[in-house]
Amino acid sequence: MVSSGISSGNSLEDSSGTVAVVGAGVIGLSCAWRAASAGFAVRVYDPAPGSGASHVAAGMLAPVTEALPTEPAVFALGAAALRRWPDFAAELTAAGADPRLRTDGTLVVALDPGDRAELDRIAEQLSRMGRPVDTLSGRQARRVEPSLGPQVCRALSVPDEASVDNRALLAALLVACRGAGVEFHAHRCLRPPSADVVILAAGAHSGALHPRLHRMIRPVKGEILRLRGRPGALAPPSRTIRAIVGGRQCYLVPRDGGRLVLGATRSEVGFDTDVTAGAVRELLTDAERVLPAVAEYAVEEAVAGLRPASPDNLPVIGELEPGVLAATGHYRHGILLAPLTAEVVLALLRGEDGPGEAGPATPARLPPVSGDASHDSHRHSRVARSAP
Ligand SMILES: Cc1cc2nc3c(=O)[nH]c(=O)nc-3n(C[C@H](O)[C@H](O)[C@H](O)COP(=O)(O)OP(=O)(O)OC[C@H]3O[C@@H](n4cnc5c(N)ncnc54)[C@H](O)[C@@H]3O)c2cc1C
Repeated sequence: MVSSGISSGNSLEDSSGTVAVVGAGVIGLSCAWRAASAGFAVRVYDPAPGSGASHVAAGMLAPVTEALPTEPAVFALGAAALRRWPDFAAELTAAGADPRLRTDGTLVVALDPGDRAELDRIAEQLSRMGRPVDTLSGRQARRVEPSLGPQVCRALSVPDEASVDNRALLAALLVACRGAGVEFHAHRCLRPPSADVVILAAGAHSGALHPRLHRMIRPVKGEILRLRGRPGALAPPSRTIRAIVGGRQCYLVPRDGGRLVLGATRSEVGFDTDVTAGAVRELLTDAERVLPAVAEYAVEEAVAGLRPASPDNLPVIGELEPGVLAATGHYRHGILLAPLTAEVVLALLRGEDGPGEAGPATPARLPPVSGDASHDSHRHSRVARSAP
């Protein structure tokens, strides 16, 4: 266990204490639902709930195939979150709506000799991390996923990854929050609202809400396409396909109804959410080499979102000052990390230690900000002991 928790003197004394959540993306809604279900009086502030990166995301729950050798803590956090997903999805479904969890795994494919070498490097890295994977020839891969094209020459099968329909998830969280008594306010906050405990979960915009997050949380733009298979075209794959195409990465994530999410670009261009023609061309060109049937699919949507990134690519979850918690900076993994984040936040509200795996996400690693102590700390002076 870690004691990244708010000290017992700052947790909520009883259910009469109020919790304000700023931001109704997957993170704010997950925290709000868990807190309200545990008996806290929760208000959520957002001018457009569910409209941020969470609406744009591909919904992969893929800590293994997203892992970078330089980021073992990100991998460990993601693996811990993935373990929580089956229960999280089942509880959401029981609360009213199904987030459409798919547990078919991921196939990572390569197209040419250079990409094949990169695939071998990933296999080696995963095996060093204790996650051995099955290597398939191109033909074996096409047997598993018949829509893969003839250029696919090698694949890795990673069975224990999953995906969720991010929009169904947001809809389910809204239903669950309302069912648990969460109050929604269609209001953009310029500063943390007044409450016993405030949770800052405004995604890429969180940096504007607290000096300790300022310059620590930045937007990383991602463009993504949503496609629909049409009659006569080969059906989309049944599991997530990640591809290395000429050194670039792309992914194809299946959805119900013959739909497919194709992503994603990554660029640091501030708060720009335009979709560029070049990004669409690049995504479609790469995807068509992996899955030729894509050329026959309908393009339903091209959209961009802003991943909330921190300097070390780990989220920031925990106390910024007495009565103010951060739950942000989830970068490429906000959907994956939602159940674990909400668990940590609920533990902190109760004045308990959070799960040990979340230790590296503590805000204590952020550099201190001069004049920090003056930041409204008097408003949150007395909140204590555990919730019902
Ligand atoms: C192209 C793309 C693909 C991705 N794919 C995946 C994936 O496959 N798997 C995965 O795990 N993650 C993925 N991500 C990352 C994931 O989407 C994010 O990490 C996650 O959505 C962050 O959630 P959030 O709730 O913190 O922020 P957001 O979803 O951005 O929500 C923030 C909310 O805060 C509100 N808000 C902002 N400012 C204020 C304010 N001042 N007052 C009140 N409300 C405010 C906004 O209206 C918004 O609703 C992807 C992201 C992108 C862009």
